[in-house]
Amino acid sequence: MGAVLALGNVTGVAHQDDPAPGQQHLTTTVEQGRFCVARCACGWRGPARRARSLARADAEGHTAGGITGAAGA
Ligand SMILES: [Zn+2]
Repeated sequence: MGAVLALGNVTGVAHQDDPAPGQQHLTTTVEQGRFCVARCACGWRGPARRARSLARADAEGHTAGGITGAAGA
């Protein structure tokens, strides 16, 4: 009796991992196989690009423009 099934992750929402002084948008490009993805310290993540230049462009667009929500364009 008492079959306790864990619901996978207990920690669902990550809340402030680093004590960042005022939410900085620190973008980096991560290579995933043949693709390159732009990522940000705020949790934003760009689409997979075939070229790193495109991923960096996404990152620049993320830091430059207001970022809230999915990628529009
Ligand atoms: Zn960001």
